[in-house]
Amino acid sequence: MKRRKLLMIPGPIEFEPEVMQAMSIPTTSHVAPDFITSFKNALEMMKKVWLAPSGQPFIIAGTGTLAMDMAGANLIEPGDNALVISTGYFGERYFELLKRYGANVDILSAEVGNIVPMEQIDEQLSKKNYKLLTFTHVDTSTAVLNDAKSIGQLGQKHNVLTILDGVCSVAGEEIRQEEWGIDVVLTASQKAIGVPPGLALLVASGKAMDTWRNRKTPVRNYYADWENWLPIMEAYSNEKPSYFGTPAVNLVQALEVSLRLILEEGMENRFLRHQKTGIAFRAAMDALNIDILPVNNKIAANTLTGAYYPKEINGNELLAAIGKAGVITAGGLLNDLKTTYFRIGHMGAVNRSDLLATISAIEYGLESTGYKIEKGSGLKAAQEILNKQ
Ligand SMILES: *Cc1c(COP(=O)(O)O)cnc(C)c1O
Repeated sequence: MKRRKLLMIPGPIEFEPEVMQAMSIPTTSHVAPDFITSFKNALEMMKKVWLAPSGQPFIIAGTGTLAMDMAGANLIEPGDNALVISTGYFGERYFELLKRYGANVDILSAEVGNIVPMEQIDEQLSKKNYKLLTFTHVDTSTAVLNDAKSIGQLGQKHNVLTILDGVCSVAGEEIRQEEWGIDVVLTASQKAIGVPPGLALLVASGKAMDTWRNRKTPVRNYYADWENWLPIMEAYSNEKPSYFGTPAVNLVQALEVSLRLILEEGMENRFLRHQKTGIAFRAAMDALNIDILPVNNKIAANTLTGAYYPKEINGNELLAAIGKAGVITAGGLLNDLKTTYFRIGHMGAVNRSDLLATISAIEYGLESTGYKIEKGSGLKAAQEILNKQ
């Protein structure tokens, strides 16, 4: 019997076998010709996955938080005005991060489960001369999906750099970086990109790179400074050896494989598949009378779902029972509400069997902790969506 449980959390996720195989290739030199080619390919494919043909990609050893840090450190100078549009946990993190670099930071915070209305962002941007704004595309703490296209447009209208934290959305939710005019789109390897944890990934627009080039003060973060990394990215793109800090060789090779699989599926297909997965999963929760955090389906993420525990059951017992049925899910993340909800990741390599197995495990968990459901009703609702062409 297979003993491995399905990992259905919002990162790390279930990875493709080919990606795991790439991880196990004996580690080569970071200046070996084959590795240089892998790095170059990964950089080129990132631009396709991000839909940012003229963007500057960066691949750095680190986590998603480093990607956030890199954007903040390189674009902020002391005294700059910045605006954080927060939908939860990671918005708060960006607020703290930008302050660290000396920015005057304002924050617009959404109600739990909602987004900040576009009119309110527009109004705030009219009040002050902001240099940049940040927003979380999919807020991993609430499973709320922000309107990236409209925020990109507002950034253009007010001539403000836009930074999209896409750690829970890139390669899952629809993002058209260049068409939508977003200046930095950043993520980490372990989420919808589908590679084990350890890589910070971002693509910067020409405008973002120019802003960095025109700085009057040095970047206040040595490791994250583009001065150190841009020559390395350019060297790899030109198939030349170079060194600043040793790249995560195996992870970069795995990234090359994963990006190739993503592009083989095609970005449009991938967006649609994630939408269908999200709709099917929410239909299952609805059929089981489980409430989700997003206040309406229009702003519900397709890469994960945040669902409230039914009042009458113990959340820890539910997660343990779901685990007993072979599926790992995650608890809550928002400080005040942590104990009232759980999160289920359904991004990346997740397939129909994974999704149905997860819903079945949740049904088992609900039944065994004493919540009355009609057995199979969640599965039925999801299949009705999944079976549609
Ligand atoms: C996971 C996540 C992060 C942080 O990524 P780490 O790799 O854990 O540092 C940041 N933002 C969002 C939206 C995330 O989902």
